[in-house]
Amino acid sequence: MSRSDLVELAKRRGYFFQSAGAYGGVSGFYTYGPQGATLKANVEDAWRERFGVQEGHREIDAPTVMPEPVFEASGHLDTFDDMLVECPECGASHRADHLIEDETDIEEAESIAIPDVEDLIADHDLQCPDCGAELAGEPVEEFNLMFETSIGPGSSSPGYLRPETAQGIFVEFPQLAEYARNQLPFGITQIGKAYRNEISPRNSLVRTREFTQAELEHFVDPTEDVPDIDRVADVELTLYPADKQEEVEGVEYVTKTVREAVEDGLVHEWVAYYLGVGKQWYESIGVDMDRFRFRQHLSGELAHYAADCWDAEGEIDGDWYELAGFAYRSDYDLSKHDEYSDDDFTVFKQYDEPKVVERATVDPDMSYLGPEFGGAAGEVADALETLAERDRAAFEGDTVTVEVDGEEHEIPTEKTGFAVEEVKETGEHVMPHVVEPSIGIDRAVYAVLVHAYEIDEVEGDERTRLALEPEVAPTFVGVFPLMDKDGMGELARELTDDLRAAGFDATYDDSGNIGRRYRRQDEVGTPFCVTVDYDSLEDHTVTLRERDSTEQVRVPVAALPDLLEDLREGERTFADLDAPAPEQ
Ligand code: ATP
Repeated sequence: MSRSDLVELAKRRGYFFQSAGAYGGVSGFYTYGPQGATLKANVEDAWRERFGVQEGHREIDAPTVMPEPVFEASGHLDTFDDMLVECPECGASHRADHLIEDETDIEEAESIAIPDVEDLIADHDLQCPDCGAELAGEPVEEFNLMFETSIGPGSSSPGYLRPETAQGIFVEFPQLAEYARNQLPFGITQIGKAYRNEISPRNSLVRTREFTQAELEHFVDPTEDVPDIDRVADVELTLYPADKQEEVEGVEYVTKTVREAVEDGLVHEWVAYYLGVGKQWYESIGVDMDRFRFRQHLSGELAHYAADCWDAEGEIDGDWYELAGFAYRSDYDLSKHDEYSDDDFTVFKQYDEPKVVERATVDPDMSYLGPEFGGAAGEVADALETLAERDRAAFEGDTVTVEVDGEEHEIPTEKTGFAVEEVKETGEHVMPHVVEPSIGIDRAVYAVLVHAYEIDEVEGDERTRLALEPEVAPTFVGVFPLMDKDGMGELARELTDDLRAAGFDATYDDSGNIGRRYRRQDEVGTPFCVTVDYDSLEDHTVTLRERDSTEQVRVPVAALPDLLEDLREGERTFADLDAPAPEQ
């Protein structure tokens, strides 16, 4: 299959197509058609079920526009950049690191410094992919990926479309912690649109400018919370560790269960837990596990605050693409918002028993500090308080030295009111750490479609089919009358209504011969088709045909809803259908 075959099928059968075609289209924006929107919704539902319901995490829905200070704190304003190089001839914009990855053996060019990137472009004689002009000597610049807007009239209140859903969770942490009754650990999920003004969107759904992310922020106490590894201990992971990427020629994987990966110290325990959950989820929606791996970030790629990070990657047309990131982000995000905002981003952890602790305090003599330091007296008093908490020994001599605004001040110790007292503490403030599985829904949908696309032969004819999992297939069952006459059409339409009422996505089709109708549904990825024929009018049975095997069985109309339910839920397989139904 070539990429264009899938893109062509996606447009023809209503999966996805480039938006605003009537106006020439705009790159990086896609519209999901009737099949695609349902497939995407089914993938999202499966994510909600696995990462939310089954893990006991709750979902929120925050705005997609947020004010500038949020992104000052998160670091996106300063550092959410990609490397841009422009073609001197045709003016096309390109991601410099991608050009290097495409044209050289270098696999991860994102973390290379700009001057080195400029050198690499020159050394490899890289050219504009659009017009072939030489790019050597062209400046490479940092380009911030956020879409900027103004909140309200005027330009005094800049805002940004969120480049990730995560910040909407971090910013609301103080409120969310209250809902969790200040008890760690707890997890919050969010699914929704994120926006990045990508320099060169490509590969249809893989790199777009508006896409859907599904993120979980699991807040944990780093000193005592551990994951319940038993829940996913035996899930087998295909791992591509950093050392294998750096030191081994060719590609060499390590296969370990989640438990082994943790026990061997290869993956951080919280990250490993979610790699297990992630693998189960990707498998359940139909990503081919032979074309799926977890790749560890190289040391240059790893954010300085992250203890460990692995990307889920899927193979598409011989290349590997990031589908999701699984990171242990320490307390970086909450600490930043704690520092930049007026709110408290810690949780108060109650001790089982109050503890008696010694606390150093000061009670400065302001009648001395006031005349001595004037307007700076308050800051000197604050500095004394901070110093007492940090370094009691500093108060052992006759004078104490503190620094305010870069200037040192000496204060007689007797004027500081320094004392050490015993106090009862009922708990302490803890800055939670965060483990984050960050999943791209569009890339998941794309991988599902690519991996489901198959060409085989049926009765001597080539057929194209999407072997979608019944759990996510947008159309679950096609219902056809052999012909729309002698009551077969009525019966088939009635059956379609009944199946819809029973909760199945059913489609009715009476156009063309039966073979053509089957092929149409095979291409759409419909797992089952039901045909009403002359016998059906007599004995109230229909044929049920399975997409992948093309096998058919005859089943009573009355049994159809239960039977389809079993097939959808995986309670029975098509091959079991001659056997009696399992006991309820
Ligand atoms: P990449 O390196 O491919 O740009 P990233 O590391 O910037 O991705 P993250 O910030 O970790 O991506 O975002 C989490 C997930 O969101 C990604 O794994 C991917 O599935 C999805 N995602 C990110 N950018 C895009 C995009 N432009 N189009 C579609 N999905 C995206």
